[in-house]
Amino acid sequence: LADQSISEDELLADPVEKVMAVGGTPHPAIAAPADLFQPERVNSGGLDLDDAVILEETVAAITTPVNVNGDARVSPAEAVTAALAAFPEWSSTPVEMRAECLDRLAEYLEENRSQLMAIAVQEARKTIPDALSEVREAVDFCRYYAARARIDLVPVELPGPTGERNVLRHEGRGVWIAIAPWNFPLAIFIGQVVAALVAGNTVVAKPAPQTPAIGRFAVALAHKAGVPKGALQIVTGAGDVGAALTADTRIAGVVFTGSVPTAKAIARNLLADDDRPLVPLIAETGGLNAMIVDSTALSEQVVRDVVVSGFQSAGQRCSALRLLLLQEDIAEHTLEMLRGAMDTLNMGDPADPATDIGPVIDQAAYDSLMAYRASVKDRILHEIPVPKNGLFVPPTVIRLDDISDLNREYFGPLVHVATWKAGTLEATVAKMNAKGFGLTMGLHSRIAGSSAMVEQLARVGNLYINRSMIGAVVGSQPFGGEGLSGTGPKAGGPHYLYRFCAERTTSTDT
Ligand code: NAP
Repeated sequence: LADQSISEDELLADPVEKVMAVGGTPHPAIAAPADLFQPERVNSGGLDLDDAVILEETVAAITTPVNVNGDARVSPAEAVTAALAAFPEWSSTPVEMRAECLDRLAEYLEENRSQLMAIAVQEARKTIPDALSEVREAVDFCRYYAARARIDLVPVELPGPTGERNVLRHEGRGVWIAIAPWNFPLAIFIGQVVAALVAGNTVVAKPAPQTPAIGRFAVALAHKAGVPKGALQIVTGAGDVGAALTADTRIAGVVFTGSVPTAKAIARNLLADDDRPLVPLIAETGGLNAMIVDSTALSEQVVRDVVVSGFQSAGQRCSALRLLLLQEDIAEHTLEMLRGAMDTLNMGDPADPATDIGPVIDQAAYDSLMAYRASVKDRILHEIPVPKNGLFVPPTVIRLDDISDLNREYFGPLVHVATWKAGTLEATVAKMNAKGFGLTMGLHSRIAGSSAMVEQLARVGNLYINRSMIGAVVGSQPFGGEGLSGTGPKAGGPHYLYRFCAERTTSTDT
């Protein structure tokens, strides 16, 4: 584990300067033209970065060179020990006080929005609009889970024929390990952490190795908001840290977001020792997400939604469009319009407010995506030029001869296209179901019967009809998949907190 030379007080005072991990590329100062973020822009994804103050502050923060290691010096075993010691006090803290910590954290996240955005831009290579969404979602998770806790976590007396007093309680289980991916290094990271905490657990959080800095800053803000330091630990580092945490037989649960192979490795780890207790694993993983378009769809809307769903965030969203399924009759026309829309995309430095699509996260991701593109070069239907220097993967449309030719997630700006014949909608959905993933699906159709059919048949957690497939809103659009895509419960949904709790019933003879 890397050295930690910065105290949390220092970190809170000047996060951008103090916390960024070595290797983050400083970005030059960039002037912020006032009119760049119009919600109607085809590739804005509906983001409304219209607050000139946020933009100015963020751009100013990004100009601060960052060069200090943000890793935390604590071993996985030490962190679990400390979290175990903190459990009795935190789990017996009233739900209302725990929820108040989350509300305060939401305020601190908002107060530090520009700083957090600047770190997200530099460390996770987020564009500025994506960085803003990231902070907003993190704030939403805090407020939503605080509100749900006040409703869901109070003891309930259950009526019935027993003639006894029966009370159902939801209580913390113990120490949870929270393991987050780099692509939502604040929103998913903090969502996992605060859900586990408000349910009465203590937490050891492990951010992705690419994005430790924003995690450390968020944890410092949580401590400032009143979460005891023992109750929330952060362990950074790459490689075997996650495996060490999940192998610890003292833990009470794991909440994980990341790839399918890692989820399976964790599940195996949790079952490896015959003597350890059975503990819950909440795993939210990848997808092989299709958008099905029939001949009644509105072409302009389809093209806008394909661009947003497939290419925004350089395709590095679990919900992103991977397979565009066009009804044969409209395929040529739609692809022609899509080429035109792609040509307007602006690829470049994520710190530049004019950028639509930035680089991918790291060299390994770049190499693997570029190798795949090279292997399918004969089937590339369209791609756009990218800046010469940097990890820019060209947004690319790749032809598939058959839907069955794509069976895994490529985590970048690559959209595959196949066609289907009129009258085969049901069979097309069945082919997608058969792939075993179940995260998102899109449908563009003006036929009510088709929407109803797809809604009934599609085995996906989130179905999007006549809109883009990304950007689920906490509380309104609970997010998460099934099959290879995850265990549930859905993040940002009304059942999420329960999975973090032990359910206990007391029956008393009156
Ligand atoms: P990843 O490689 O699976 O890593 C995710 C986290 O797991 C990292 O913190 C990683 O850290 C840790 N990890 C790796 N091996 C581990 C092990 N054996 N035991 C415990 N922890 C381990 O995924 P990623 O590349 O960061 O994220 C991209 C993936 O996440 C994509 O597949 C995407 O679809 C998925 N995703 C899903 C959702 C959703 O809500 N369904 C949301 C966002 C992303 P170390 O490498 O340091 O161990």
